[in-house]
Amino acid sequence: MNVTVPTEQAARVRIVGKSPWNGIYTLVYLFGALAFIGISIYENAWEYRSVTTSALIAFAWTAPFTAAAHLIHFITSRGRRTRTRRAINTVVERVNAAAADAGLPPLHQDSLRRMLTAKDNGPQAYTGQGKFPAQPSLAWELPTDDPAVLVAATRGGSPETVTLARSRASAPAEPSRSTTVTVLGMQPDTDVAPITASCLGGRPAVPADFVWPSCVMHRTAMQFLAQVEHEEQLLLVFLCVADPGMCDSWDPDAGCNAVVPVSGRDLHLAEPPTADAITSSEPHLLGVRTYDAESFHDAAAAASADGCIVAGQYGGTPDWFQSDETPADASTFVASLVEHPAGFNFGGGSAYIFTDGAGAAKLLLQ
Ligand SMILES: [Zn+2]
Repeated sequence: MNVTVPTEQAARVRIVGKSPWNGIYTLVYLFGALAFIGISIYENAWEYRSVTTSALIAFAWTAPFTAAAHLIHFITSRGRRTRTRRAINTVVERVNAAAADAGLPPLHQDSLRRMLTAKDNGPQAYTGQGKFPAQPSLAWELPTDDPAVLVAATRGGSPETVTLARSRASAPAEPSRSTTVTVLGMQPDTDVAPITASCLGGRPAVPADFVWPSCVMHRTAMQFLAQVEHEEQLLLVFLCVADPGMCDSWDPDAGCNAVVPVSGRDLHLAEPPTADAITSSEPHLLGVRTYDAESFHDAAAAASADGCIVAGQYGGTPDWFQSDETPADASTFVASLVEHPAGFNFGGGSAYIFTDGAGAAKLLLQ
């Protein structure tokens, strides 16, 4: 059950303009220093007072102005801090009351407070403000006093509201066989989207120190196939297509394919080193759909029937073409890509992406 709470009050105190105080202090101290020097010289050279007396007179003239500036700053900012705290407290109480009415377990107050005061999009990767286009809604998962329950909070809209929904805490690996399969679908058109969105083709979003991977056998740039968002990382998938089948591009360890995990907010679109290093100039966005199905095959058939262009599978259990070849050192299945929608050449099979959960990722074909 969802519950929506108005939080416009918190939104208003969150938007704090740039403080003018840096500029004011620069001016006050600059003029203070100049006046101090000027008055000291005047008293010493024209009034024939000793250096110490001149300095004391100059200090007596200038110190009150700087002290006054600090006092005014203290008083005005204290007022603002109090207003901010009061507004956030009011909204926190309102959210707590609404959560209690909806039968949710008590929320952890520090997480709730952090969610209400956060200026960017919280723990959702690649949706921050600044260089990336903001997403229409901001989502958090708030812990509760019940360890089995998380509350998904979505902040957005104008006037702002927060929507709370019960979501299950990530349980420690259930032994029961999951019957849901998440299908990756490709948008038929190329669309404007954040450069860090999951997509097929186009150019990869990379950090400043990125080096485009090359095939160790052919010594030429690999082709960028896709990027997949996964657990606050963006996995960039590369494959050697110099002479398909002639190097070990199927092998996760041969150096003829690569999955480069990137993260952070300071990413830009890479320039391909050669024309063959990308499959298309514009990316096709990838989305996910979840189906109740026994296998990826069944889920893909259902997705196709819904008009979805199936591009692969996201998470769950890999649908192996041959036998299970999960790499020993990177055993978390992220996604698989099929050949069709983007015209990839996987030798008739699929490409499987794995991570080791510690920042490294691999690709294998079969
Ligand atoms: Zn190669």
